Amino acid sequence: MNKLTPGHCDLDYFPTVDGCLQIGGTSLQQLAERMGNTPFYAYDRKIIEKRILSLREKLPSAIKLHYAVKANPMPELVHFLAQQIDGLDIASQGELRVALEASMPSQHISFTGPGKGMDELKMAIEAGVTLNLESETEMLRVAKLAETTGVKPRVTVRINPDFELKSSGLRMGGGPKQFGIDAELVPGLLQKLADLDLDFLGFHIFSGSQSLRAEAIIEAQNETLELAIRLAEFAPSPVQLLNLGGGFGIPYFPGDLPLGLSPIGENLERLCEKAKTTLPEATLSLELGRYLVGEAGIYVCRVIDKKISRGQVFLITDGGLHQHLAASGNFGQVIRKNYPVVIGNKMASKEKEVVSIVGRLCTPLDLLADKMELAKAEVGDLVVILQSGAYGLTASPTAFLSHPTPKEILV
Ligand SMILES: *Cc1c(COP(=O)(O)O)cnc(C)c1O
Repeated sequence: MNKLTPGHCDLDYFPTVDGCLQIGGTSLQQLAERMGNTPFYAYDRKIIEKRILSLREKLPSAIKLHYAVKANPMPELVHFLAQQIDGLDIASQGELRVALEASMPSQHISFTGPGKGMDELKMAIEAGVTLNLESETEMLRVAKLAETTGVKPRVTVRINPDFELKSSGLRMGGGPKQFGIDAELVPGLLQKLADLDLDFLGFHIFSGSQSLRAEAIIEAQNETLELAIRLAEFAPSPVQLLNLGGGFGIPYFPGDLPLGLSPIGENLERLCEKAKTTLPEATLSLELGRYLVGEAGIYVCRVIDKKISRGQVFLITDGGLHQHLAASGNFGQVIRKNYPVVIGNKMASKEKEVVSIVGRLCTPLDLLADKMELAKAEVGDLVVILQSGAYGLTASPTAFLSHPTPKEILV
């Protein structure tokens, strides 16, 4: 069990041997030597595998599991995931390449996101990927492109629902949004779609992200199915795909508790039953990002200086916000809170100290841990930021200050 700062829930994914954190069966120190250099990101296959198994166990087998590649697009990791899940959701041409190289059959890849470019749309249509239409303009563009590609585009309509996932970290639906088509406009859009040479497959409804409350997710999923049933009446053909969104969160901050899957699974069981009669041809899916990979990853940097400024201890590391923006509190957080952090080579240390951990950038925003009680650390020790498998490296401004980009490893 990792002893984290007071308030963080216990995270016991990574065992400790002789006071050193272990990842993928090796000690952190050995791994750091193998990597040649800090900082780096490491992702543990076993933890991802276990997470998928627990989802398969607790959710109905009829529910397909998709991975939202933007959470972590490392090609090796996506390839590993592709062998265990049912589909990949992508949001750019670059992610499309990663998904195709991961050998995911194109009919199980769906392309979401506002403002898709013409070249992206063309490549996706030719590859046979399902396009989640984000606007009427996009629908017309896709229909036009199809005239030259000779492939009938597979499309679903992304709906901006008239509800939102309550108490979620990031609201992606409800109210005015740049995502999807307002639910009330969908019947009219479907009428136009019927006249175009498009293969209509169904709906994509994503109402929010990073929720740790099962009841909120259940409520959103119930409303999602209701909305899909209502709108299916206006569809040119039976709904074959219904993407229920995701929103499953992971505990990052003091006070956060892990999401309980069982009630969500029980409710989905009921929804699957209901869908059997109301949307008999529909395959239901969930698209998860951080829930699949977030807890399997760590970010590791090294203490390169230690100083005391007017009584406050600073550990200065070779990492920083340019490599882990989210841990610095600048990736969508309203109030800065500490990620779970440990001194990875001093897990058993009894000697503690309250420290602030900073990076090497010349900005006070570059704070990786603010006044946390941790094992007393010195120059050379390894700082580990847990819960870093999603929205880490690729969600960070790595070009800022022109330091080298850290390596990543799947262990
Ligand atoms: C980002 C995103 C996801 C994944 O979100 P997580 O919070 O990582 O689970 C899923 N679907 C869509 C449409 C997204 O934009």
